[in-house]
Amino acid sequence: MTIPVSEMIPVEEARDRILSYVSRLEPVRVPILEALRQVTAEDVVAPFDIPPLDNTAMDGYAVRAADTAGASPDSPRELRVVADLAAGAVLDMVVQPGEAVRIMTGAPVPPGADAIVPFEETDEPLRGPNEAPRRGSIVRVYKEARPGANIRRQGEDVRAGTVVIPAGRVIRPAEVGVLASLGLREVTVFRRPVVAILSTGDEVTEPGEPLEPGHIYDSNAYSIAAMVKANGGIPRLLGVARDTIEDLTAKIREGLDADMLVTSAGVSRGDFDVVKDVLAREGEIAFWTVRMKPGKPLAFGAFTAPDGRRVPHLGLPGNPVSSMVSFELFGRPAIFKMLGRSDWERPTVEAVLEDTVANDDGRRFFARCIVWRHEDGEWHARLTGPQGSGILTSMSAANGLAVLPENRPLARPGERITVMMLDWEHAP
Ligand code: AMP
Ligand code: MG
Repeated sequence: MTIPVSEMIPVEEARDRILSYVSRLEPVRVPILEALRQVTAEDVVAPFDIPPLDNTAMDGYAVRAADTAGASPDSPRELRVVADLAAGAVLDMVVQPGEAVRIMTGAPVPPGADAIVPFEETDEPLRGPNEAPRRGSIVRVYKEARPGANIRRQGEDVRAGTVVIPAGRVIRPAEVGVLASLGLREVTVFRRPVVAILSTGDEVTEPGEPLEPGHIYDSNAYSIAAMVKANGGIPRLLGVARDTIEDLTAKIREGLDADMLVTSAGVSRGDFDVVKDVLAREGEIAFWTVRMKPGKPLAFGAFTAPDGRRVPHLGLPGNPVSSMVSFELFGRPAIFKMLGRSDWERPTVEAVLEDTVANDDGRRFFARCIVWRHEDGEWHARLTGPQGSGILTSMSAANGLAVLPENRPLARPGERITVMMLDWEHAP
């Protein structure tokens, strides 16, 4: 099967076609901490109540509320301390009228008691450090306690048998905590995709190696791998393929055990742009020019792995900013879909533009910019520098991409522009 070739397709169309080639991966059980930012594949049901018993929210005295009726600093109620209870300890005696149990935060409320009087409302603070009332001594209560005061009820957080985390939920630190509070060590989530990343080009050199004249270091593999990681995938670096059909074919085959293959460069119209030749020969493939800037050329297709799986292949342009922006728009949604997420749309802000952004050729322009909250209370956006597709430092300085639509040739200072936020770092 061959994907039909078309000229200048819109961003959404390219994305939808790519997404039609990827599916959610299978569920796996992983340790709860490793599941961070993965998606639950099944409901998590509470096996017991949380808290498991009524317990105290304060350090203080467990009392019968009726015994404190009318208490005030001028007219304290005197109760006999019958026990001292640390968190984790359980008392099986029943608190009788006129009695109090000294109790620490988290300790179960003993039977008979129905309120906790905090230390601050007793004569406890008046005593020296080693003079806490022990069994048999008297405590003075200065304030009336309502029944139920300072008691955390059994099951007030979670009831046994209820769904605490539904299937399809992204695991954040709070979910990791909830899972741990249920005593669980593992959770069932959709597997993280392994993304094989291959750079191509005779001039491309691995960082750390000496740089020959006319050569450049491979930044694409690393920026893309970092994006894979940041979005929940597992990058697998395949290195750099020379611009020969043999080397490229061999390296691509090494990547076919992954869930997705990403290459960079070799998709433009130059003499040595052999990626497209290999793809056309080995896989099913389309070359698209996407109506966007940076990142017009894009190859997309699929290879068949030795085990028969169809491995989608995203052929990014070579220029460092083009490859990052293209991966942002096409690779990230693919990773999200494999993770079981559909919320790949970045948050946007409407910002007041401080520069002029011109769009001369009817493509959608993603301009690198920095967004911050201005003193006037609005979001403002400023370009981070020259917008050439090779200028990676202006990507590094940016926290968002200002989007100038296909039909808006110019945005002037003071006008509003939609900015797709990549992150919230770097705000001045
Ligand atoms: P190409 O698509 O092969 O014509 O490459 C377009 C531009 O991207 C050229 O200037 C390449 O040197 C540059 N380029 C290609 N691959 C990489 C890479 N892995 N890292 C940084 N720049 C690259
Ligand atoms: Mg090249």
